[in-house]
Amino acid sequence: MPKDFDFTGFSSVAIHSGHEQDANYSHLTPIYASSTYVFDDAEQGMRRFNGEEKGYIYSRWGNPTMTEAEEKISALETFGVTDKNGEQLKVKTILHASGMAALTTLLVGNLKSGDKVLTHFSLYGGMQELLEKVLPGLGIETIIVDLRDLNKAEKEIKADKKIKMLYLETPANPTIQCVDIEELTRLGKQHNLIVAVDNTFATPYLQQPFKYGVDYVFHSTTKFLNGHGTAIGGALSGIDIEHMETRMTKVHRLLGGNSNPFDAFLLVQGMKTLEVRMERHCHNAVEVAGFLEQHSAVGKVNYLGLTSHPDHHTSIKQMTHPGAMLSFELKDARPDGSGGRGLEAGKNFIDKLQMCVRAVSLGTCDTLLSHPASMTHYGVPKEKREQYGITDGLIRMSVGIENIADILNDLDNSLS
Ligand SMILES: *Cc1c(COP(=O)(O)O)cnc(C)c1O
Repeated sequence: MPKDFDFTGFSSVAIHSGHEQDANYSHLTPIYASSTYVFDDAEQGMRRFNGEEKGYIYSRWGNPTMTEAEEKISALETFGVTDKNGEQLKVKTILHASGMAALTTLLVGNLKSGDKVLTHFSLYGGMQELLEKVLPGLGIETIIVDLRDLNKAEKEIKADKKIKMLYLETPANPTIQCVDIEELTRLGKQHNLIVAVDNTFATPYLQQPFKYGVDYVFHSTTKFLNGHGTAIGGALSGIDIEHMETRMTKVHRLLGGNSNPFDAFLLVQGMKTLEVRMERHCHNAVEVAGFLEQHSAVGKVNYLGLTSHPDHHTSIKQMTHPGAMLSFELKDARPDGSGGRGLEAGKNFIDKLQMCVRAVSLGTCDTLLSHPASMTHYGVPKEKREQYGITDGLIRMSVGIENIADILNDLDNSLS
């Protein structure tokens, strides 16, 4: 990266930051498929181990291709964000094998037996299960409330001194709920809590939680950051560089959830087009939401850009755009009821799609649709599902960057 060049735009940072001139003058940082690195002599090995000399040692600890991805994410999450002294904010990012691996490092690195996590009731399924099925075995419990209610959040924090971490996922699955990062961070900091935000749905192009003084920003890089559905990955960025370089680096290396150079290479290339992709994703999503809202076969549409969404105002406050994720409920599939209600209607609709892809995950160039009741949440009892807004006829959609006319056509044909 040109060291003394002041980038003024997000895409310039996305394309150039984190890049180091390659020893062989390769334009792109190659896929460094090497598990280990050579020392000139034992002295050099010692200097690398004790940190006197910068350099790679072993790829579970770090790898040049992975470093480029980490530096890019740090630069994007802090682009245009200043610290208390008005200087460019600096954070450190550690790339992981998956989003779940990064979350594991976040939790294990900061919490100990007896500590509690406070979080919102709408969470990514994997995180919810990690908190409910794995963490209690380590003595770490989770309290789940509606964090859109700040009074409730404050009451919980005051009532339980064991709460150490406030974990926010915003926007969140599948009803695209938002919590107020600024207000909750202020509250969390008054009570000395660690505040972490899952920024996967928004990406740093739409939302930069570090502006509000959060401690950690987490990404499943599998989604919009990669953007092409070519690799699984996770990133954990932290504002306390010293803590990131010592405790968190140690925990990351010892848990072994490291990324790999091939996935990191794909992520680096994907992130270069984040701004142009997000612009198109979001533009298409607005069109899709408007189309669905007026369609006779569709009931409720959950999209942050619609004033009918309960968290519309929170999203305007902290996001530059309402994003590309939405969900909607199907009414009866056909007026005579032959398409069935709820579950049947959802399955029928999904089965008719021709261009849009039937798949879970999100954030790819392709439009992806899933039917939570028959897929991701099939195992969850109906009453529990409905508590989270996952009705039988709910469809979740990650709006892609195809031409909008084709997306609308495919939806229209499948709804009729
Ligand atoms: C996918 C996802 C995760 C988990 O990431 P993986 O890369 O699948 O391990 C966490 N949070 C959100 C919001 C996600 O969409």
